[in-house]
Formats: sequence, structure tokens, C-alpha cells
Amino acid sequence: MKNKQPIIDIIQRSHDTKSFRFTRKDDFDYKPGQYVIVTLDVDGKSVSKPFTLSSSPSEKEHIEFTKKFTGHDYSNVMDAMVIGDEMIISKPYGQFTFEGEYDKIALISGGIGITPMISICKYCTDMQLSTDIKLICSNKTEDDIIFTDELEEMMQQNPNLYAFDTLTRASDEWTGCSGRICDTLIQKEIPDYAERVFYVCGPPPMMDSMVEMLKIMNIADEMIKQESLLGY
Ligand SMILES: Cc1cc2nc3c(=O)[nH]c(=O)nc-3n(C[C@H](O)[C@H](O)[C@H](O)COP(=O)(O)OP(=O)(O)OC[C@H]3O[C@@H](n4cnc5c(N)ncnc54)[C@H](O)[C@@H]3O)c2cc1C
Repeated sequence: MKNKQPIIDIIQRSHDTKSFRFTRKDDFDYKPGQYVIVTLDVDGKSVSKPFTLSSSPSEKEHIEFTKKFTGHDYSNVMDAMVIGDEMIISKPYGQFTFEGEYDKIALISGGIGITPMISICKYCTDMQLSTDIKLICSNKTEDDIIFTDELEEMMQQNPNLYAFDTLTRASDEWTGCSGRICDTLIQKEIPDYAERVFYVCGPPPMMDSMVEMLKIMNIADEMIKQESLLGY
């Protein structure tokens, strides 16, 4: 079938998250932050769901998306897949993209909402863009944090990138930031927040509260880009 592609690599990112890689076709052009529709056979039916590419267009050899497993039917089928198994991958879609349009951006992710941020950060780093990037990643526990090594490596290469985590259910050993992302945290960590375009991505309830908070902080609508992981 058209666009059916074999998995070339699977990377376990955390206890419930894996990245799937596929060979990048010559005509597969996409922007950092875009998503694809992935179709699987689930109990004899074709089921399709959107996944943001966690790879960057600057990576020529492969494309990658990252799935958080939920224990539901589609999720279980994907979780059981091995290298060589095939998925139907659509063309790229979406407007939640960044290719250097703004001088300063603030990226706010909740859970698996980190996937477009990784694509954007990798792109800016590989392309040596001068964009000043602050990334705040919100998760529940230490075990839920993904892409730590990748972000640390990017920060070493890119002096304009600063990423940090905050946890809502941190253990006693956690020495980083705790609690939900709030106005006080943003004012402290990103003092020039009013000069930035905000990119917010996460599950719908988190998105709603973040956008409401940014509006209370007098961030204009046109300075807030959103991608809600609907269905999650
Ligand atoms: C633009 C876009 C980009 C996305 N990018 C990503 C991505 O990069 N990575 C990613 O993992 N996901 C992403 N998603 C979400 C993804 O498309 C799926 O919706 C998600 O992975 C859940 O699919 P699922 O089949 O595992 O779970 P589903 O079965 O669809 O479950 C979805 C939610 O409903 C709840 N639910 C469903 N059925 C039940 C039930 N019977 N009882 C109780 N609760 C239930 C689940 O707990 C879960 O929270 C994206 C969504 C959009 C719109």
C-alpha cells in the first residue's frame, strides 16, 4: 500500500514512551513542529492518529515520531511493533511550526507535548539560528521526563537554547523546579517573557490553563501559538 513504511529503529525514551524511526524519502519535506497521520491495522480495522515529528528537517536520513503508550488498542498494537514492521505514514500537516521567524521564543510543553519542541530546538541548533529559545517542560515525575540527553547535547552546541524541567509530583530527591508552570515561574526564569512568542503544546486541559495564564500575563493572542494533543 502507498506510504507503507518499515520501521528502521525504535528508541525506548521512558517507561511508557518510544520513538519510531523511518527512512526519510527524498520528497518528504516538512517544517519543524509538523505532524503526520499514522495508520495501523487494529483488529482488522484501519485506525489513524496524528503524531508530531520529533525529528528535525535538518536530519536528512530519517524521520521520527514519539508515542506515549496508553494501554488502549491502537497504542498496544504500536507498542508491540518491532523493527521491519510497517506503518502507513501520511504527508506532513500543521501550522504549529518555527523556522526562525522570531528573534525570541518561549516553548512550553506538557508531557508528550515536548515532541514539536524537540523538532524546533534541533532545527534551530543544526541550522545555527540565532533565535533565543527558552523551553520549559512540565511532567509529573522524574520517570516521565524524555529527551534529557538530547536537550543537554543541544544546549552544549547552541548557546541560545536554555531548557529546564518542572515536575508536579517530584520525589524528595528531585533538586530541580517543582510545581505546575505558573506566572511566577515564568517571570523568574524568563524575565523578558513579554518580548517572546510563546509556543504551547500539551494535553487539552494543560493547554487551556496555560493559555489562560498567558492572557492574564498580558501576552497578546497573536504572540501565542498552540497545538493541543486532542484525543490524548
Ligand atoms: C496534532 C497532534 C499531534 C499529536 N502528537 C502526539 C505525539 O507526538 N505523541 C503522542 O503520544 N500523541 C500525540 N498526539 C495524540 C495522539 O494522536 C493520540 O490521540 C494519543 O497518542 C492517544 O492515542 P491512544 O490510541 O493511545 O489512546 P486513546 O484510546 O485514543 O485514548 C485517548 C485518551 O482517552 C482516554 N481513554 C480512551 N479510552 C478510554 C477508556 N475506555 N477509558 C478511560 N479513558 C479512556 C485515555 O486515557 C487517553 O487519555 C497528537 C495529537 C494531535 C492532535
